[in-house]
Amino acid sequence: MTQFPQLNGFRGAPGLVRLVGHRGARGVMPENTLEGFEFTVKSGVVALEFDVVLTQDAVPVVTHNHHLLNAATRGADGKWLQGAELKVSELPLAQLQSYDVGGLDGRTVYGQRFPDQVFMSNVRVPTLGDLLDMALTPQGADMLFLLEMKSDPETAHTPEVTERLVSEVVKAVRTRGLEQRTVLHSFDWNLLEVCGRIAPDMPRSFLTIMPKNADDPGEDSSKSVAPDFAKLGMPVPQAVVEAGGQMWCPHYLDVTPEVVAQAHALGLLVSTWTVNEVDDMHRMIDAAVDGIVTDYPGRAQRVLLERGLVWNEDVARMVAE
Ligand code: MG
Repeated sequence: MTQFPQLNGFRGAPGLVRLVGHRGARGVMPENTLEGFEFTVKSGVVALEFDVVLTQDAVPVVTHNHHLLNAATRGADGKWLQGAELKVSELPLAQLQSYDVGGLDGRTVYGQRFPDQVFMSNVRVPTLGDLLDMALTPQGADMLFLLEMKSDPETAHTPEVTERLVSEVVKAVRTRGLEQRTVLHSFDWNLLEVCGRIAPDMPRSFLTIMPKNADDPGEDSSKSVAPDFAKLGMPVPQAVVEAGGQMWCPHYLDVTPEVVAQAHALGLLVSTWTVNEVDDMHRMIDAAVDGIVTDYPGRAQRVLLERGLVWNEDVARMVAE
């Protein structure tokens, strides 16, 4: 059986709950930016979740939506974009990187979701390569990647499109020798099947949200390409195992102690998203998840420390001193 050492960085243990920075630290730093990732790693949270789509010229870039969110994107005139949102897959990299994604428009619903996010300027959408390169520097030596690939509902049924996304992502990881620090992650189980074929040397994480839980504003997600859970004919954790997954990432409202125990009995790791409120963090810890994916890694650190818990072994040593 293939060994996946990176999974140790996502595995909980008595006294230890893993923290994963969601899009870096979206609650306080511009999401999916090198500035945000650097901040998160310097905070001591070295596992990063982020989202990858391809540009028109087939460069994997780190951004969440298939369309640039006007509420987070400013043009050369310094003003937030207006009108129909631009589609990343229709923009060459150079044009994409002409926009500034360092600040939210506080007049928008999305901007109001993150009132504590700093406002920065001259921040660009990074390429996947830019982010992966950080892991090769001394300060990034412990970085781990929960690398989400975003399937476009408009093209998810086209196998070539999925294959191209997976191939470009895997190439970027392999070129840098980061296969053992990366977990491939998606809502799209077909895409994860392609990952299993193209990259059996990397573990796979299956994202789920049950249909009863609605989207938050501004999330143009790939959830619509997820399987029909009502038709699985088996519990979700079992379906993840049968699909070859090593990790299951359920939405936090779908988490109970029972499903976590069920997943653990099947040998899965469980990381839940996106857990931002203190009460929910406590509930997830009580449910015995391995990891918490959060926009507020600092808030989660404080919750863990208050309970005498840590998120990595180094912290355990420091707290003990
Ligand atoms: Mg994501």
